[in-house]
Amino acid sequence: MFENGYYGQFGGAYIPEILVATFQQLEAAFNQAKNDPTFFPEYEALMASYSCRPTPITYAENLTNHFGGARIYVKREDLNHTGAHKANNVMGQGLLVKRMGKKRVIAETGAGQHGVATATMAARFGLECTIYMGEVDVARQRPNVFWMERLGAKVVPVTDGSRTLKDAINEAFRDWVNNMDTTHYVLGTACGPHPFPEMVQYFQSIIGKEARKQILQIAGKLPDHVYAVVGGGSNALGIFSGFLNDSGVELVGVEGGGKGLDTKQHASRLCSDDASIGVAQGYKTYFLQNADGQMCETHSVAAGIDYVGVSPILSHYHETGKVRFEAATDKEVVEALTLTVRKEGIIPALESSHAFAQAFKEAPSMSKDSVILINQSGRGDKDIFTVADALDDPSWRQFIIAKAEEYRARK
Ligand SMILES: *Cc1c(COP(=O)(O)O)cnc(C)c1O
Repeated sequence: MFENGYYGQFGGAYIPEILVATFQQLEAAFNQAKNDPTFFPEYEALMASYSCRPTPITYAENLTNHFGGARIYVKREDLNHTGAHKANNVMGQGLLVKRMGKKRVIAETGAGQHGVATATMAARFGLECTIYMGEVDVARQRPNVFWMERLGAKVVPVTDGSRTLKDAINEAFRDWVNNMDTTHYVLGTACGPHPFPEMVQYFQSIIGKEARKQILQIAGKLPDHVYAVVGGGSNALGIFSGFLNDSGVELVGVEGGGKGLDTKQHASRLCSDDASIGVAQGYKTYFLQNADGQMCETHSVAAGIDYVGVSPILSHYHETGKVRFEAATDKEVVEALTLTVRKEGIIPALESSHAFAQAFKEAPSMSKDSVILINQSGRGDKDIFTVADALDDPSWRQFIIAKAEEYRARK
């Protein structure tokens, strides 16, 4: 039954016997929805009224003039409700949960963005919600934990293993096994066992559908190059979906180069030699793992792309050459963010800034009639702690110290 869950040699559904029926139910609900001509319009209407869709494309005129090469356009997924493309996936899965008649959702989260998005969806749809998060991440991402709890979610700190994302994923699967009749697992990216990669790509394809129409109107032609950051791969697959059949459009996925691909402190699975093909977390793809199949620690300045695996669909596109993969370093990313804020008054998330950084490396040598489209997956105001730190802003430091003292003095 899972033969169509493979993309070349990647993907599949390596799941415990006990979950097979639950996956069959999910796949059936998803197929039914896909084949129902009213479903996608219902989804689009929901996203229009709740999440500012269609999100616009902005012509980055100042950046274009600055680099003097290709015309640069930006698809503004940062303008979604909760500040990123993640809203597309969680609201879509929320509609499926309603169709399946389930009353409870669970999710894993690392940086906390997917947890906030899922808790938001659960609040809106009146569902019970539990979020699994590594204990280390709970401590690092307090603002997101604060909002998840206000939104009514129960946040469970996971104390196993390295107490980060991969341990949270294991715990979420354990919960699902025990509560599968009532509960849906809202997976956060285009990874995991079939049908999740396909399903997440389906919901995120709303980005590419809109973008293709918009860019034809605004730029008068299809883009020559489309750039997107690749964590798990959902925003990249979302925008790429609009251009898969356009042979003249080059698709570029940008991974977290961290401190450099030769340092082991990065999050690059498709551009580095530190990753190899394996099966983990229910699917087959490239993982950052050692020779014994032990998962490596990942590093990126952007918490949202710090993940050992990558979408099996993207691994397949890597193997077939459909998508070109590059990596941008933390330093290049902070520079790209700083320049974009200054030139355009747009604050891209650190994750999204990877796509900007790679586009900026390539734009100057392109002709003036070339068109570049960058997917701005999210907004960067959430990154104020990290960015202010990276820029070593002295007034920010003062502010944090003063706040801490104020709290300490409080009874
Ligand atoms: C979570 C996140 C990502 C990475 O996830 P993908 O599934 O690779 O899209 C990228 N950008 C932002 C803003 C995010 O929040």
